[in-house]
Amino acid sequence: KNTERLDFIRTIVKNDLDSGKCSKVVTRFPPEPNGYLHIGHAKSICLNFGIAEEFAGQCNLRFDDTNPCKEEDEYVESIKKDVSWLGFDWNEGLYFASDYFEKMYELAVELIKQGKAYVCDLSSEQIREYRGTLTEPGKESPSRDRSVEENLELFQRMRSGEFGDGEKVLRAKIDMKSPNINMRDPVMYRILHASHHRTGDKWCIYPMYDWAHGLEDSIEGITHSICTLEFEHHRPLYDWFLDNLPVHRPHQYEFARLNLTYTVMSKRKLLRLVQEGYVDGWDDPRMPTISGMRRRGFSPAAIRNFCKVIGVNKFNSTVDYALLEHCLRQDLNANSPRVMAVFDPLKVVITNYPENGSEEFDVAVNPEDESAGMRKVPFSKEIYVEKKDFMIDPPRKFFRLAPGREVRLRGAYFIKCHDYKLDENGEVAEVHCTYDPESRGGSSPDGRKVRGTLHWVSAEHALRVKVNIYEHLFNTENPEQTEQGQDFTANINENSLQTIDSCLIEPSVKNAKPLDRYQFERIGYFCVDKYSGPENIVFNRTVTLKDTWAK
Ligand code: ATP
Ligand code: MG
Ligand code: MG
Repeated sequence: KNTERLDFIRTIVKNDLDSGKCSKVVTRFPPEPNGYLHIGHAKSICLNFGIAEEFAGQCNLRFDDTNPCKEEDEYVESIKKDVSWLGFDWNEGLYFASDYFEKMYELAVELIKQGKAYVCDLSSEQIREYRGTLTEPGKESPSRDRSVEENLELFQRMRSGEFGDGEKVLRAKIDMKSPNINMRDPVMYRILHASHHRTGDKWCIYPMYDWAHGLEDSIEGITHSICTLEFEHHRPLYDWFLDNLPVHRPHQYEFARLNLTYTVMSKRKLLRLVQEGYVDGWDDPRMPTISGMRRRGFSPAAIRNFCKVIGVNKFNSTVDYALLEHCLRQDLNANSPRVMAVFDPLKVVITNYPENGSEEFDVAVNPEDESAGMRKVPFSKEIYVEKKDFMIDPPRKFFRLAPGREVRLRGAYFIKCHDYKLDENGEVAEVHCTYDPESRGGSSPDGRKVRGTLHWVSAEHALRVKVNIYEHLFNTENPEQTEQGQDFTANINENSLQTIDSCLIEPSVKNAKPLDRYQFERIGYFCVDKYSGPENIVFNRTVTLKDTWAK
């Protein structure tokens, strides 16, 4: 249906469907509910849900909640919200790995019966010691030759709570000399007397990732289990478990994870930013989380398009943050209503305009989108423009306001400066202009040209709002790169948030609600913050206008 080249994973899926190796593709997105989703997860979501959409398959949302200590329902809810907001649908496929604990236990018993798993008494340090290294083979555990009967009994006693944390583990009996360290009798179960967010105190043994993940995939009938490259060396183990059990057989494929400049992307580090108060929660607009990006003013379409542009491949790399912003601007330019806001106001008096007079202009909501219609913008004798749009003695190419120079006020009139006043500090306090009534709407019947168009607000009608100006949360492209003894927090940008307490804005934003997006003409893209209210409107700067992405 499309002629675009398929990435390597979609090519595999297509071939498997064409050859009849599978009749329906089933993928999954398997977050651990131990934090909020970030832009890296978005890449995986777009891939897994995208494949299901494009090939008429199914993508499950599976909470990989096999570790009781760090998981919480708050995270489950936020993850569901973020996946939906991105525009994806798991249909009936909402699952929790913890629902499979009983089934996993039975399959572990099955492996023990086959003589392929054993209860081991070594401590975790000893297990690490015995495991060997890349250049040295591992050593077999003294527990390795336990009889099936003894293993069955001990495993049952592990489950029933007879042992303390770490006293015993269940291990797969594979090969302590394997060149792949993951195959040296990996741990399948550990003892952990901890409450789980869903199963409570029912279990005190918890399955390890490598044992659990393939079974979760198998139980759900996953066909293509897509994960990041770090798991490539775990694939032989994934295969070993499934090949030794009488179960449905999914296949694992690996792609390169997303890394982005100027940010960190592991949940553990993001959690530290939250807990140590560097940011205002997981949804702080400077966070690379989906919820932070939403609050910052990103649209789902911008994120999905970014994921499409970066594509899917097998080589780890770091994507320039400017590319993300480029995708964002493309979408916001096409879809954001325009408004005029003045950050650093300078009063302009229109001396030939009627005293107490005012009128309204109809101005396009979005010149890129005619269907967005028109908005009313009020005008009066006193207006504000940006201070930097006026100079007493400008260079020749300054196409803005200056004594004797004429400019267009966006959507309104031509005005020409004939005077200005200074305050006691010698700063320009006020500019005096005349307007040309014939130029109403922004062009003059005599066809004379003006080079500059300024944004402005009517002094009498403007609203005062607060604006949060955000910069990168980190000073360096790679925040993980630090001097010895420091960690990524050493690279935090102390000036990543600055506020403008009193920005003047046209009254059409009066009823703006949290998450509404705008372009402030000539300034940038802005979004209404979650703390905004009708009496105290707060905007977040999403991104500036100027695109810095160079191909
Ligand atoms: P983190 O290291 O940020 O905690 P994780 O991999 O531990 O991430 P999970 O909740 O296990 O987090 O991730 C769910 C899915 O998202 C996994 O399949 C994982 O491969 C994928 N994923 C996580 N981070 C990225 C990333 N940066 N790029 C692409 N996919 C990712
Ligand atoms: Mg994980
Ligand atoms: Mg992690």
